[in-house]
Amino acid sequence: MARYRDAVCRLCRREGAKLFLKGDRCYKPSCPIEKRGTQPPGQHGNSMRRGKALVGYGQQLREKQKVKRIYFILEGQFRNYFERAARMKGITGENLLFLLERRLDNAVYRAGFSTSRRQARQLVNHGHVLVNGKKVDIPSYQVRAGEAISIKEGSRKNPHIEGAWQTASGRGRPAWISQDGGEMSARISGLPSREDIDRSINEQLIVELYSK
Ligand code: SF4
Repeated sequence: MARYRDAVCRLCRREGAKLFLKGDRCYKPSCPIEKRGTQPPGQHGNSMRRGKALVGYGQQLREKQKVKRIYFILEGQFRNYFERAARMKGITGENLLFLLERRLDNAVYRAGFSTSRRQARQLVNHGHVLVNGKKVDIPSYQVRAGEAISIKEGSRKNPHIEGAWQTASGRGRPAWISQDGGEMSARISGLPSREDIDRSINEQLIVELYSK
């Protein structure tokens, strides 16, 4: 599978927003966005946006890129999600976000087993994650209400997973995921609602982009 090989912090600077791609560092003052602001990367970064508010196609394109990067999805897959969302009942833009939010790698991150979606994808790919007690190593698997997500027993002492779990317990989880007993396990207690998802995302811009 293709991967982003560039420094992920450049993606945040390119989008002019914190996309939380790097785990713990995103919450520390050493985050480049905290230190340098939202200046785009590169020698001419500062002059790129000076006085130029994005409108129309440019604005729609940037919003799509931002969401793709937040969820670490490549173009073809993102387009497939959009087409699926358009076929569902309800509001296409919200459906798109709900489909992305219900990916197993996102649920693993939201539940607090990792400090970033990128790390969550690795945990799933490497077979550390169980759904209802059975290994699921497909990051795009769509979680359903009532399912339990946990870490396989031999991996629970992994310091990265333990550290992430403790941090997440202090930071809180979205309303649709709850801690399942005292063990390192989480329950999908419902489905995500729009309020659970980054409010800075303007999904309507993505709908407009793909509807041209
Ligand atoms: Fe983005 Fe996190 Fe890097 Fe900050 S530390 S620029 S939020 S990836």
